[in-house]
Amino acid sequence: MNNRVHQGHFARKRFGQNFLHDESVIANIVAAIQPKNDQALVEIGPGLAALTLPVSDRIDHLTVIEIDRDLAARLQQNPFLKNKLTVIEQDAMTVDFTELSAKMQQPLRVFGNLPYNISTPLMFHLFEFTHAISDMHFMLQKEVVNRLVAGPNSKTYGRLSVMAQYYCQIIPVLEVPPTAFKPAPKVESAVVKLIPHQNMPYVVNDIKSLSRITTAAFNQRRKTIRNSLCQFFTPEQLTELGINLDSRAENLTVQQYCQLANAHTDLGS
Ligand code: SAM
Repeated sequence: MNNRVHQGHFARKRFGQNFLHDESVIANIVAAIQPKNDQALVEIGPGLAALTLPVSDRIDHLTVIEIDRDLAARLQQNPFLKNKLTVIEQDAMTVDFTELSAKMQQPLRVFGNLPYNISTPLMFHLFEFTHAISDMHFMLQKEVVNRLVAGPNSKTYGRLSVMAQYYCQIIPVLEVPPTAFKPAPKVESAVVKLIPHQNMPYVVNDIKSLSRITTAAFNQRRKTIRNSLCQFFTPEQLTELGINLDSRAENLTVQQYCQLANAHTDLGS
């Protein structure tokens, strides 16, 4: 049988469709999520319902966001699911999760086996809504999970690590081999739990400053901070902030990036 056909559906590469079929992996993910009836559960990319079905077994209602029209229609017709699901047929990148949370009158519990082709921009989109989210469980490329949890002074530490750790506590949950999916992806995968901080460990007055500074620093990660951030700070200003001029982007902590962002906002530039 064609490797791309699963349950009669031809997997669409452009939507990052790799369907989970390993029952023990599925059971482990559902056990990690621990869905409960009084919670506002939202699944991104339900696909052929590998996670949707066992989660729906435990609760009366679930909201799902699916971009693929054929899959959305299948979900709406599924006899076990149709009375439990609210299907939002939309690109998750355009969903206003604040609005969704307001509708459901509580913070959201978001989960999904994310399409790998858009997983990083999707995480950045979700970070804009962390005030409306109580937790997130995502299957991602293992390499992306490594970047999410990386600390300073490592090659994997980057802009995603800083922004994710600014917004969330991050807990790796499970590693998953390519054989758990149909079709099998070329990369290893991992499940991660992200819990938005209730009390932010570092206060940033203008998030755009943090975004701009981390972009400038990590886009030129081989340069010294003195050079990569020269459009924002003079060497004297950096020294005054306690930053070693010869350090590189990967040497600064999340706290130092937040300090730099606030200093940049204060300088009004
Ligand atoms: N949850 C299913 C599973 O575990 O077998 C499918 C996971 S598959 C990796 C990703 C799913 O996300 C697919 O159903 C795909 O159609 C959907 N998807 C892709 N891009 C999307 C987007 N921008 N917004 C919402 N869903 C998307």
